[in-house]
Order: sequence, then C-alpha cells, then structure tokens
Amino acid sequence: MPIRNALIKPLVRSSWRKGPGYVSHWFGKRCDAAGLTTVEVPRLRRVYVHKRVAEAFREVLLSIAAAGIDHLIDLSDYGGTYCCRKVRGGSAASPHSWGIAIDLNVHHFLASDDTEIVKTGRTNFHCAAHEVAPSLEALAPFFNAWGFTWGGDWNTKYLDPMHFEATELTVKILEGGLSKDEHRYIETIREALGMPPLGYGTGQAIKVVHWVTGDMLAEFELPAGIRRLCENGDHIEDQGKLYVE
Ligand SMILES: [Zn+2]
Repeated sequence: MPIRNALIKPLVRSSWRKGPGYVSHWFGKRCDAAGLTTVEVPRLRRVYVHKRVAEAFREVLLSIAAAGIDHLIDLSDYGGTYCCRKVRGGSAASPHSWGIAIDLNVHHFLASDDTEIVKTGRTNFHCAAHEVAPSLEALAPFFNAWGFTWGGDWNTKYLDPMHFEATELTVKILEGGLSKDEHRYIETIREALGMPPLGYGTGQAIKVVHWVTGDMLAEFELPAGIRRLCENGDHIEDQGKLYVE
C-alpha cells in the first residue's frame, strides 16, 4: 500500500540563505567535505552523506532490509548520494551537494502493461506519474519514516522518483524537536510499515516530575536506543516530562 507523503517537503536549496526552511540552515555550506561522512549500510555497502543525517540513511536501509525488500534496489542502476552539482537542467544547487539525497533505480519505469522496465536511454527524472516504478513506490515509505521526502510525491512538473532527500524532519527525528503533529505523522507511517515507534529523541532532556507535588526529581538525557518509555507518552511529547508516583 503506497503512502503518499506530500507533507514531507524538500527544504529550499540555497547555499547562503538562513532560516528553518532552507537547506543551509540545517546542513551548512554545500560541497563542504567537513560536513560529510561515510556510513556502512545494507545493500549499498557504504554511502557518503551528510554527518547530521548519516544515521538516518543507515536506519532506512536497515529497515528496507528487515522488510525483505532490499532486492528492489537495483545495484546496477544506483545513482549515488553526494555530488557537488546543480539540479538537472537548472541553476539551483542540487541537494546532492549537501550529501542529503540518494538516487535509486535511476532508469526504472512502469510500462503500460504494468511491468517494471529499465530504459537505458532515459532516466526517470521528470517522468509522468503513470511511469513511476513500483519498486520506488515500495521503497518510499521507508524513507518517509525517517523524514525523507520522495521525488515521486512532488508535483507533476518536478516528479523525480529516483530521488529521496533528507529534510529537517530527519534531523528532528535523530536529534529531537519534532512538533506533536510531526511526531504523530511520522508514527503513522512507521505503524503502517510495522516499524517500532520512534524513540523520544536521542539527547532529548527528560524531566522526572512527582505527579502529585509537581516537584522535579531528576533531569537527564535519554540515551540512544530507548524506543518508548510508557504507553501514554503525551507528557513526554508535549513537555519533556515523565510523571512518577
Ligand atoms: Zn537526486
């Protein structure tokens, strides 16, 4: 069942403008090797990506492998991650210049007889909606679950189904800071995929509060790997507070 996630939008690609809507706000300068790292991942072995979202690339590929669909990634048609360049046919900086995007199954299409085909002479950049390869549609929710936007979800003119790109949601999933709505949205995607709920954010400060007196008893940072503290996590989501007797 494809999950359409037009809500997860790409950041505006600007190498100098600052503000939460811009790539540079979250990922710094483009084509900056200091911001990049290599991370080991299933299927693709290793990818060269932005440090701030490297763990998310790994988690996405782990979850794709765990779901048993990593064979859908065509190793002979891998388009890569980091590349210091402009967008195809345009003058704006490509998100690949920050190492936050990955291109998969670059020449895969859905043919009119509903079979997936590979067209060697044409990439699926700017293809029609009815040409989007089912393999990419199947992989997309796993990227969405980590806050990546999918080029197959964009409007018709800019459809780019090979392309998956980290956003500020990816950063917030890893570092904390998702709004309540964003958290719910990501959890809905994860639930549909049978994935465990998100942790409440590596490094997120949790206040332990006496539920009667309201006294703060302790404050600590949640270690990585904690997936859920309690079934009703509203206070943790809203206020970073864990109430105890
Ligand atoms: Zn791309």
